[in-house]
Amino acid sequence: MEVITCAFCKGKGIDPFGILSELAICQVCGGQGEVNVDEPIIKCAFCKGSGVHPHTRLACSACRGKGSIACKGAKEKCPDCEGRGFKGDENLPCSFCDGKGIV
Ligand SMILES: [Zn+2]
Ligand SMILES: [Zn+2]
Ligand SMILES: [Zn+2]
Repeated sequence: MEVITCAFCKGKGIDPFGILSELAICQVCGGQGEVNVDEPIIKCAFCKGSGVHPHTRLACSACRGKGSIACKGAKEKCPDCEGRGFKGDENLPCSFCDGKGIV
């Protein structure tokens, strides 16, 4: 288990988009500014580590806003999305690798 800075709020602990309120706590880390991810971890391919679902103001559905993802057992680039984490439509994570980009 590795403790990393919450990508969604960049460690601030506050909802970066202030949808409910400018002081609403970050839904990803619960206001802690940090999240736990099982090791080994890689940067989320789908959101490119930003923690934000592409083209939305929601937490990335592949890494759940953490920006990094557990990749235990993964060995190679996903053949379905060629490591990008999505296929064609950028709004949906690749179903083969769940947005990790590796399998
Ligand atoms: Zn956060
Ligand atoms: Zn992500
Ligand atoms: Zn894939």
